[in-house]
Amino acid sequence: MTDRKPFPPSVAEPHLSVDKLYRYMEGKLPAAATHEVEQHLLDCDLCAEALEGLSLVPQSEAEHALFDINRYVRKRSIRPQKNTILRDIRNWGLIAAILFLLIFSAVVVWYQVNQSAGSTLPPAPPASTQAPIPAPHTR
Ligand SMILES: [Zn+2]
Repeated sequence: MTDRKPFPPSVAEPHLSVDKLYRYMEGKLPAAATHEVEQHLLDCDLCAEALEGLSLVPQSEAEHALFDINRYVRKRSIRPQKNTILRDIRNWGLIAAILFLLIFSAVVVWYQVNQSAGSTLPPAPPASTQAPIPAPHTR
């Protein structure tokens, strides 16, 4: 019974290292480790494909390529420091646009409120129109 797992193994069952894959290919692993690797390869498409890829390149080239990839990823993950002025201008432009919109909408609202306050509010009722207080019956 070898059910294929739909997902790669969890952290508890880490992927095979490149070194281990090479030692497996060269038959340098002890029997138990070889069995573990084969079991993992049955369950894990990622490592199976890695093994296939590694079998196409010699170890020294693969290690060099891995070094290059790691260096590239590290370089990409560090924020680039150039073009800061351009980025600052873009950020300040965005802030200015937001401020402009806020001020503009505030002015429009203020204008609308002032307009309606001057024309459409009903006048305050004069004091004389209040209903007279009925005289108390004294019977
Ligand atoms: Zn794996």
